[in-house]
Amino acid sequence: MTKFTDLGLSPELLKAVEQAGYETPSPIQAQAIPLALAGHDILGLAQTGTGKTAAFGLPLIENLLAAGRRPAPKTVRALILAPTRELVNQIAESLRQYVKDTPLWVNLVVGGVSINRQIRMLSRGTDILVATPGRLIDLIERRAIDLGQTRHLVLDEADQMLDLGFIHALRRIAPLLGTPRQTMLFSATMPRQMNELAAAYLSNPKRIQVSTPGKAADKVRQSLHFSPQSEKTGLLKDYLDTSPDGLALVFARTKHGAEKLKKHLENAGYDAVSIHGNKSQGQRERAIRAFKSGQARILVATDVAARGIDIPDVSHVYNYDLPEVPENYVHRIGRTARAGKEGKAIAFVSATEIGYLRQIQKLMNLEISVAGGERPVEEKPAPRGGGRRHGGGFGSKKRRGNRGRRHQSAA
Ligand code: AMP
Repeated sequence: MTKFTDLGLSPELLKAVEQAGYETPSPIQAQAIPLALAGHDILGLAQTGTGKTAAFGLPLIENLLAAGRRPAPKTVRALILAPTRELVNQIAESLRQYVKDTPLWVNLVVGGVSINRQIRMLSRGTDILVATPGRLIDLIERRAIDLGQTRHLVLDEADQMLDLGFIHALRRIAPLLGTPRQTMLFSATMPRQMNELAAAYLSNPKRIQVSTPGKAADKVRQSLHFSPQSEKTGLLKDYLDTSPDGLALVFARTKHGAEKLKKHLENAGYDAVSIHGNKSQGQRERAIRAFKSGQARILVATDVAARGIDIPDVSHVYNYDLPEVPENYVHRIGRTARAGKEGKAIAFVSATEIGYLRQIQKLMNLEISVAGGERPVEEKPAPRGGGRRHGGGFGSKKRRGNRGRRHQSAA
């Protein structure tokens, strides 16, 4: 088995790895670290939870230390872009742990907090900057940052950034970066656009793959429950009551839907918190802390907000709404059954979601077992924006009457 000492890292970084409590490199680390140390561009197909932050972070730090320079005011030596504030925070937290005993300085910039503080911070020069693309562009426009000395670029969770207008942002940022440049792109999925992105921004990349999206979900026990949209809240409460132990992550499709569901659960006496795009940075952090510590048992989230967050002990993932993009189902259920633990994923499927279910089963190449409900006649989803009215029936009176035919094999 590969050891950290086999990878070409300096004693300083080996000490940091030891202090972080890592004993052996994860597969992506074993593959990526030697290649990145040698200066190659990397195209990595890997999900969160595989240890990819250290896979790009350790060689990045090593290369910056080897170059031995200090950053000039306003400049940045290495730039890491990630889709969400949570992921940026998490990456910066890991990197700060690894650079603890080095002279390197890690900064982070995200939206939703004061830009003036960030401008002041950046004025001193930064070795590694972790940023969301939107805030970075604001800072570039205010001339608070100079990327001309930036020789390392990491694009993390690049597929998720695609959904957030990332190509447009990258087109603006990339020409400002220094050359030559080492670029590492990590993505959980490789849609066609990702290959185009790699072709445009990476040069002769080494491809690394640690597991296919479908594989990551092997350990998760999946089931589905057919239910009219208006009865899903009652059904969720039934499931929560049946499995009162462990942490439950509940996915809703829209910010509005997530907030409404969380409020309903709270009013019904459940310890629920939520994260979605309408929450401030502080609110999101508080919610995640409460969930991680077990103070809140239920976290209601949207896909984008939950992306990249490392929450190790989720026992149940509920797909309250099925995702429109089938890959997101794989990401969602990948939040449970981590680190060898048991995990269950239950999808609630309404008549308008049968098409989404079909796409998910096709992607995963499996038939998800039916835990309850009656398969409805398929209905076409309402057009985007107009379809939300379907989702409004929290706690409707009708659901009580439906309990008779609810999940027989509820897990
Ligand atoms: P990531 O995929 O980078 O978000 O990492 C997921 C989690 O695994 C984080 O909590 C890391 O601190 C942890 N981790 C990363 N590499 C290792 C390793 N080699 N051994 C044990 N834990 C690790």
